[in-house]
Amino acid sequence: LSERLGGVFDRLTKQGALSEDDVKTALREVRVALLEADVSLPVARDFTKAVQKKATGAAVTKSVTPGQQVVKIVHDELVQVLAGDDPNPGALKIDTIPAPILMVGLQGSGKTTTTAKLAKRLTEKNGKRVLMASLDTNRPAAMEQLAILGNQIGVDTLPIVKGESAVQIAKRAKQQATLAGYDVYLLDTAGRLSIDEELMTQVEQVRDVANPRETLLVVDGLTGQDAVHTAENFDQRIGISGVVLTRMDGDGRGGAALSMRAVTGKPIKFVGLGEKVDALEEFHPSRVAGRILGMGDIVSLVEKAQETLEAEQAERMMKRFQKGQFNMNDLKNQLEQMMKMGGMEGVMGMMPGMGKYKKQVDAAGLDDKVLKRQIALIQSMTKKERANPQLLQASRKKRIAAGAGMEVSELNKLLKMHRQMADMMKKMGKMGKKGMLKNLGG
Ligand code: GDP
Ligand code: MG
Repeated sequence: LSERLGGVFDRLTKQGALSEDDVKTALREVRVALLEADVSLPVARDFTKAVQKKATGAAVTKSVTPGQQVVKIVHDELVQVLAGDDPNPGALKIDTIPAPILMVGLQGSGKTTTTAKLAKRLTEKNGKRVLMASLDTNRPAAMEQLAILGNQIGVDTLPIVKGESAVQIAKRAKQQATLAGYDVYLLDTAGRLSIDEELMTQVEQVRDVANPRETLLVVDGLTGQDAVHTAENFDQRIGISGVVLTRMDGDGRGGAALSMRAVTGKPIKFVGLGEKVDALEEFHPSRVAGRILGMGDIVSLVEKAQETLEAEQAERMMKRFQKGQFNMNDLKNQLEQMMKMGGMEGVMGMMPGMGKYKKQVDAAGLDDKVLKRQIALIQSMTKKERANPQLLQASRKKRIAAGAGMEVSELNKLLKMHRQMADMMKKMGKMGKKGMLKNLGG
């Protein structure tokens, strides 16, 4: 996609902001990429519409091309939609003892495998006592399959009793989990090749017996469009709390993730990355976003985005300097930047006009240790003090120095340096934006 967009934008003149036409042209390509990734049509349409609003008129930063800029906006929006406002995708609600977790989905989607993977994770990572039960009465082999997996990972399974219904097994699992003091019990339901009334009724009955804390829909990540239909149905009938996408180790582009997130609004909690019992990972929105956009080299994109951000920050700062604003927050930014760039020596080399201050700076001995102490002093100031350093009278100075574990004299040195730098910034501001960019090495 990056390449394709690059091509589109080669034909466009570089302007200060993305025009509506630029964005439209680019988003046509984005929509094709989404559809190729098996995102369902209405979802792809809505998504590009949302991006269009955000992208039109967005400033193009100097360090990236308009094409890259659109890719970044698309990527960020994708991550946002995928992540929703779920800060911790891998977390499960285990707040009752025992906590029931219901696994639902179509046949062959990976329910049984995922049940075992999840049980292993809960046992090993969360230190929970877990019981698994297979409710798949259609296929005796399915119950065996779970028992074998349980053996393999050292997790208990509910003993198999022939002739029981799914609801009866669910009741027994609940009873056993309660009596034997398990923290969690996982119910692995039967699936069908497609959604039918019998299946849904059965799962509904099981749900009503177990009253699950989590109902996880297991979906094959390779089944793009169908997945949406499945998810909609299960969510309407059963009510799901999250999604597990399996087979994300395959060639699929994972468009199902976006579709399902958009259609159900339910978080994607885990992805399955293979047949082995440890091939389960928490959902990482940015990885899946990169995959959907067909960008193998997602790392470079993220780096690019980072550069964009830094460029934006530098630009914002420059605007402040031009207005003669340089407060303690700015100084802190500068000090942190200095630490990144190899201390004062490195910075001095990049800034003509700093020569005059070299002696003072040298006298202050600005090595990393000193920079760290100075940053600590600024951190010890209140928001108001940072924004208005002129507020710093004797009593405030004492408090700040004490807060950072230092002497007031050290704070005074910092304040002196701030005044000098503020002076310098004002002068640089008068040199105009271009000259300053050069001076800041931007
Ligand atoms: P169920 O019918 O929903 O219980 O599905 P199963 O758990 O029995 O899985 C069906 C097949 O898919 C099995 O061969 C699994 O090994 C395989 N499978 C499940 N999850 C994954 C996955 O994340 N990646 C791959 N490659 N195969 C998987
Ligand atoms: Mg199964």
